[in-house]
Amino acid sequence: MDLNNFADSHCHLNYPGLIEQQSAVIKRMKKAGIGYALNVCTKLEEIDDIISTVDKYDFIYASVGVHPDNVDVKEPSTDDICYFSNNEKVVAIGETGLDYFRLKGDLTWQRERFRRHIRAAREVKKPLIIHMRDATDDTLKILKQEKAYEIGGVMHCFTDTLDTAKKAIDLNFYISISGIVTFKNAEQVQHVAKNIPGERLLIETDSPFLAPVPYRGKTNEPSYVVQVAEKIAHLRSESIDSVAINTTENFLSFIQKQ
Ligand SMILES: [Zn+2]
Ligand SMILES: [Zn+2]
Repeated sequence: MDLNNFADSHCHLNYPGLIEQQSAVIKRMKKAGIGYALNVCTKLEEIDDIISTVDKYDFIYASVGVHPDNVDVKEPSTDDICYFSNNEKVVAIGETGLDYFRLKGDLTWQRERFRRHIRAAREVKKPLIIHMRDATDDTLKILKQEKAYEIGGVMHCFTDTLDTAKKAIDLNFYISISGIVTFKNAEQVQHVAKNIPGERLLIETDSPFLAPVPYRGKTNEPSYVVQVAEKIAHLRSESIDSVAINTTENFLSFIQKQ
């Protein structure tokens, strides 16, 4: 197996759990053959730290965005997002989207925040990173209304149905599968991972969260994306090399570097 074959499409290297051991984590990534990773932003207050991390490592890229669950943070305008994305290491806008699981009540502000991210992404022509939880209909509706298909992006840590995956693919989105696919009770995610077209498949860790089996419950890190790829290879009856090469090629076209 060639080195530098895997791409972790979604991780949080500046979060507690990884930040304290960041250089060791990055050494282990290199050793495990992680050729690319996307260090995802969840609030504007962390963008300087994220940029300083990706500036140190040419194989790690950044995004800019404010997570739908983040309250008590600076509310981003479309102009703010465009401004911070004006950096060649910033390759995507997000994570953004809707989360009706974690937050309840009047979430009009969350939908407005989501719309501003889509407008910014279309303006700067960079793809979106979508977080969607218990909000399928509204997420797809807003993506359509705001013409997100013009720029596309990724549905990260996808846990919805195959039917929803197909609708997202029709809107020009990739489907990114996390370590959840290795969990015993994750039949729906496994079904999606097995059946979506290979050219729309990405893999991720969402580290430090959601460590795959056999590391479940521990701090996750980008090198464990290999376990995600192994499980997907098994489900799709493909070699791990073919999953690695395919998802890495998809990652490079997602970030517009190919
Ligand atoms: Zn997320
Ligand atoms: Zn995330």
